[in-house]
Amino acid sequence: MLCIGAHSDDIEIGCGGTILKLAEEFPNCEFHWVVFSATGAREAEARKGADQFAGVEKLKGPILKSFRDGFMPFVGAEVKDVFEEVKSISPDLIFTHNRRDAHQDHRLLAELTWNTFRNHMILEYEIPKYDGDMGQPNFFVPLSSEQYQRKVRNIMDTFKSQHGKHWFCDETFTALMRIRGMECNAESGYAEAFYTRKAIL
Ligand SMILES: [Zn+2]
Repeated sequence: MLCIGAHSDDIEIGCGGTILKLAEEFPNCEFHWVVFSATGAREAEARKGADQFAGVEKLKGPILKSFRDGFMPFVGAEVKDVFEEVKSISPDLIFTHNRRDAHQDHRLLAELTWNTFRNHMILEYEIPKYDGDMGQPNFFVPLSSEQYQRKVRNIMDTFKSQHGKHWFCDETFTALMRIRGMECNAESGYAEAFYTRKAIL
């Protein structure tokens, strides 16, 4: 697997539950982990998040970069260089941002993911935000009660620098997973959802 995130905490919020589930169900899988903006306190948090979700033995990397939050489209060539760096990884599955995300950094990484990986299964995850860009995902991963609760616990425990943001609380994360769980009739009631643009049989 390849997990791509713009900022320290995006991967965990977007697909942390799915990563916990895959790590549990496929003991031999590996997670390559790339975060483009992880500086200061957020660097240590990104490392801790990767360890907590992928698990130390399954984790490859993490590759952590120090791009300025919000400015990635303005240094597109340097961002694209990172994709050249990870191009040789040929993952079975890629998690990245949604191409229609309201955040410019997220959109750029989504575009470059598709641009770089042309023969791969790509799932685009969603990040709740005050801009209000929730859409209609078309791919669902039901989570067990243990998995969705562990996701929220890990996020709150890892990303302490974000606790001051009014939206950064367990209720936001739990509520979104509850809605997605309702939409896919998940047994536990909770799920994560993704956008997939292309599926090859
Ligand atoms: Zn982000």
